[in-house]
Amino acid sequence: LESHTSFSDLSKSLGTGKTTCRKVVERYLEQIAKHKALNAFIEVFEDSALSRADEIDLKIADGKAGKLAGMVVGIKDVLCYKDHSSTAGSQILKGYNSPYSSTAVERLESEDAIIIGRQNCDEFAMGSSNENSSYGPAINGIGENRVPGGSSGGSAVSVQMDMCRVSLGTDTGGSVRQPASFCGVYGLKPSYSRVSRYGLIAYGSSFDCIGVFSKNIEDMALTLEVIAGHDPNDATSSTLEVPDYSKPMDEQGPRTIGVIEETLSLEGINPAVLKNTRNFVQQLENAGHKIKMVHSKFLEYALPVYYILTTAEASTNLSRFDGVRYGHRTRDPKNLMELYENTRTEGFGEEVKRRVMLGTFVLTSSYYDAYFTKAQKVRKLIQEELKTQFKEVDFILSPTTPTPAFRLGEKSENILEMYLADIFTAQAPLGGFPAISLPYGKDPEGMPLGIHLMADSFKERELLEFSKKSISLVQN
Ligand code: GLN
Repeated sequence: LESHTSFSDLSKSLGTGKTTCRKVVERYLEQIAKHKALNAFIEVFEDSALSRADEIDLKIADGKAGKLAGMVVGIKDVLCYKDHSSTAGSQILKGYNSPYSSTAVERLESEDAIIIGRQNCDEFAMGSSNENSSYGPAINGIGENRVPGGSSGGSAVSVQMDMCRVSLGTDTGGSVRQPASFCGVYGLKPSYSRVSRYGLIAYGSSFDCIGVFSKNIEDMALTLEVIAGHDPNDATSSTLEVPDYSKPMDEQGPRTIGVIEETLSLEGINPAVLKNTRNFVQQLENAGHKIKMVHSKFLEYALPVYYILTTAEASTNLSRFDGVRYGHRTRDPKNLMELYENTRTEGFGEEVKRRVMLGTFVLTSSYYDAYFTKAQKVRKLIQEELKTQFKEVDFILSPTTPTPAFRLGEKSENILEMYLADIFTAQAPLGGFPAISLPYGKDPEGMPLGIHLMADSFKERELLEFSKKSISLVQN
């Protein structure tokens, strides 16, 4: 399959006429059909993808194609795409057709990428296994009956099983990196504000980041380069210049890697994960990189703080789904209150309702200071602790997840256990830092494992470069 080599190779074949965008799209459509049972896509944009492919084939022939000509991309069902539906994996948005494209998607299209469909995810990006999707779970392509992780589960599986070249997912507490780890692919969450959130259906606005899934770092870097950058439609988007992520950097020499001691002594961490992480660290050290054990005083607070703040933000963000403006509307309400109530009761799933209630609770005036204000303060402490560590280390390493992909249904009864899947990934979005999951190692049952690397804000280029180097190092 084309996706096994990098996009630049494909680009050459397209340039010499060895293959065409149409053929490439058709090949991915075949893969999507073949793996239909994995439920990775909620909707395949077959017609628009094929007609785009034909248009871009003409542009290539004319020498006028953009730098992503022939790049086939799947998008998580939380990203708006003009004249296409997006539902955030929810019944409440069923039938919603977007009148505009999210900035990330628009930028991809302006460089002639082809959007092939929208991918399954946990409802409103709330979940770690994709089991909270109202369209049924996406399934991991490796192992039997394993979850792909979440919330961007469909986006991870699509790349894993070659149903598209790259996927755009979103990461609020780990939703790109955790599924990437479970599925054995690369997953990047950029710094907060690096990529515009315009046209992304919001969950926790001070956390949400659009991220990339890929099978190699080159494709990831190129995709990020196109989607990143300031956008007047998102006031929080950074005005910092976008580096050429896809251009290799000058030799960086040995780097200092901080390993969070607490992540390796955590109770309940799977022995294969532990061994794999130690093995990776050892190889970095053998190759001349400096390893420094660091401590995280606040690791145990990362998840509670994450859940207080994101549910608070979600309860406000999701108030717009009231049956008046978008998607589902209840039938025959007696009055306005009943319209709101019944629409939301019918349209939202259990986890979304739980989080809206939790978020509303922490924002009520009698509890505001005890929970919301306190959590804001601890968020700041977590951010400052990491900031201080980045003065001494270039990257911070940990496993991506405490366990490999679990089985469907295994954790859906125990909400707290499910929340634990994000113990290592929640720190980065609390501080706004970029982080990546690298596919590395397998457990004894053959399930993929991941290594998590975090860098200081806006150090994506260094992070990508080091990821590429270290993966080639440990594989040789
Ligand atoms: N799994 C985490 C949660 O359930 C993270 C979700 C996300 O990053 N969107 O909230």
